[in-house]
Amino acid sequence: MKVILDETHGSEVQSWVESANLPNADFPIQNLPFGVFQRHDASAKPRVGVAIGDRILDLHGMQSEGLLAEQSVRLAANACASDSLNPLMSLGTGPRQVLRQHLHAILRQDAPTSIRQSVARHLVAQADVDMLLPAIVGDYTDFYASIFHATNVGKLFRPDHPLLPNYKYVPIGYHGRASSLLPSGTPVVRPSGQSRDGEADPRFAPAKALDYELEVGFFVSTGNPLGESIPIDQADEHIFGICLVNDWSARDIQSWEYQPLGPFLAKSFATSLSTWVVTMEALAPFRTAAFARAEADPAPLPYLFSQSDQQQGGLDLWLEVSVRSARMRESGHAPMVLGRGNFRDMYWTMAQMLAHHASNGCNLRPGDLLASGTVSGAEQTSRGCLLELTARGKNPVTLSTGEQRRFLEDGDEVILQGYCEREGFRRIGLGSCRGTILPASVT
Ligand code: MN
Repeated sequence: MKVILDETHGSEVQSWVESANLPNADFPIQNLPFGVFQRHDASAKPRVGVAIGDRILDLHGMQSEGLLAEQSVRLAANACASDSLNPLMSLGTGPRQVLRQHLHAILRQDAPTSIRQSVARHLVAQADVDMLLPAIVGDYTDFYASIFHATNVGKLFRPDHPLLPNYKYVPIGYHGRASSLLPSGTPVVRPSGQSRDGEADPRFAPAKALDYELEVGFFVSTGNPLGESIPIDQADEHIFGICLVNDWSARDIQSWEYQPLGPFLAKSFATSLSTWVVTMEALAPFRTAAFARAEADPAPLPYLFSQSDQQQGGLDLWLEVSVRSARMRESGHAPMVLGRGNFRDMYWTMAQMLAHHASNGCNLRPGDLLASGTVSGAEQTSRGCLLELTARGKNPVTLSTGEQRRFLEDGDEVILQGYCEREGFRRIGLGSCRGTILPASVT
C-alpha cells in the first residue's frame, strides 16, 4: 500500500463555505466524503454529492451543467451522474483522487470568484435533504477483528479459554444480510424470534436482549474476478472508503441459534450505516501501524502479511457510542456516552480482512460492504456493545435519568460517531449513525 499526502491534506487551507471552517466540523475541505442525497420535494431523485461543512455539493448538478468537463475529471464526474456510488466505486483509486483534487481546488477560499459563483449554485443545505444508502450493496460481510471484543465475549461463555484456537490465524467473519442495511436515522423494529431461557422450552417472542455493535464498514471499489485473489499489498487499492456501522444484535436469539453455523436471524433484521463515505485519500494522514501482536502470537500467514501493511495498515480513528432513552429525550438530557474506542486497536487491518475474503477466489464487487466487527479496547470504557459492557446483563449501566439498562429498551436511540485527529492535520469526522428502537411488530 502507498499512503499519499498532497495539497488536499494541508491543514491551513480553508473553504469559502464558511461552515466547513468551524473547528469541530466533521466535513472540512480536507475531508470531502461522498454520499447519495434526495431533496425533500416529492419529484426529487437521488443524487451523488460531496459534503462540505453543513452543505452538499451536488455533483450531478455540476456535471449536467458542464462544470466538471475537464478531461482529467470527466470520467469520475460522469460516474457521479447516478443514484448510487457504485459507478464511481468501480473506477478505482485514480479517477477518485483526481476528482478529490479538483473539488478541493474549487472549494478552497482562494478559488477564483467566477468559479465560486458557478459552484455555489450547486450547494444544497444538508437540512433540506434525506440521505440514502451510499451504494447498492450486493453483499455484506461482518468480521470479528477486535481481539478485545472476541476475548471479552469469549470469557462470558468459556472463562478458561476465551479465544478459540483459530483467532490469531484467521480473520473470522460471517456473511451478513444486504437487504436490511439501513441509512442512519431509519427506525429499527425490535425483532421477534426463538430463544430459550436455561432449560425451559424454546419460545417465539420479541427479543429481550437487543444490543448495538459499534463497528467500522468499508466499501469495495474495484473487485476481483471469480477464481482470482487480491494480494495483501494491493488490498487498500480495492477499498473506496469507510463509514460507521451499527450491527444490531438480538443476543437471546443469537445464543440459541448460532451453533453450529453462526449468526443468522439475530443479526439480519437490521444493520444501520452512516451515510457519508470518507475516502481512503481523506484518511491518509491518520494511517498508523497495524496492531502490535504479543511476542508469543503467531505471525500472520504470508498471504496476510505485508511489511507496508504492518507499518501503516492501521487507522487512528476514534469511535464513540451513546444512548438516549425516550425519558432522556423528553427531559432534555443529552445522549450518554457508553463506550469510546479506537480503530487502531483492531487485531486485523482492513487490508487483511479484504485479502482474506478474496483469498479463496471469492469475487468481491464494487459496492460490497465489509464491516470490522465490534470495536472494543482494553478498558472498561472502550467496550463496543452492551453484551460486553454489562457482562451479558449482569452489571447494568445507569443512565443520567437513573434508568438502568442491561440491553436496549423500546424508544432508545443509539448514536455512533467517529473522527480522526492528529497533530499537524485538520480533524475530520464520519458524521453519525443513528437508530431508534420501535416496539416489536410481530409478537
Ligand atoms: Mn458485528
